[in-house]
Amino acid sequence: MKKGLLLVVSGPAGSGKSTVDSLLCAGGDFERSVSYTTRLPRAGEVNGRDYNFVSEAEFDKLEKEGALFESNCFCGYHYGSPRRRAEEVLASGRNFIMEIDVHGAMNMKKIYPEALLIMLLPPSYSEQEKRLRGRGTEPEEKILARLEQTKRELEFLPQYDYIVYNADGKIEAAAEEIRSIVRAEKQSVRRNPEAKDTYLAN
Ligand code: 5GP
Repeated sequence: MKKGLLLVVSGPAGSGKSTVDSLLCAGGDFERSVSYTTRLPRAGEVNGRDYNFVSEAEFDKLEKEGALFESNCFCGYHYGSPRRRAEEVLASGRNFIMEIDVHGAMNMKKIYPEALLIMLLPPSYSEQEKRLRGRGTEPEEKILARLEQTKRELEFLPQYDYIVYNADGKIEAAAEEIRSIVRAEKQSVRRNPEAKDTYLAN
């Protein structure tokens, strides 16, 4: 049984990453990581689905036990991804998706160099702006802040392995592109260092 791949999927606001990740997970070959956080649930968020909401003391304990793959502090709250679940999923041959920002992604690249880093983007910056305004849920200054943040996030693009564009109404195509990247990566020579020996021994 071939080990699954650990995918780190990042994308600016409006890239549609949670929708794409949900499509991937619906197929059964992918499972999304549910992070631990010390922040309080927002309206509509479900414990165990969106996050595992824990106290500071519980988070400390998880960190000390080595139960977290990586962790970060953001706006005074702690976030971390579960190591054991990741290992179980990967060992079962399924792929594990971590939906984290560029800093978490850079961290993961150091901790787990086999991680496959994917940047999901709207088709263009102007399209991203249109999507953010189209939501109609955020004040102008927040929209501008998110657009500025995107420029800073894209500074990290050269550290990623693949870019996937998520065009309007083509969300399934974006998910399929990720599936095909994963299929190709699994056959890559660098991920199959034992291939020659296995071939010759059989
Ligand atoms: P929010 O509180 O808005 O859900 O998330 C805040 C930030 O924490 C986002 O940038 C999100 O990507 C990041 N985040 C969520 N879970 C994790 C995690 O497990 N590890 C890291 N490093 N960042 C995370």
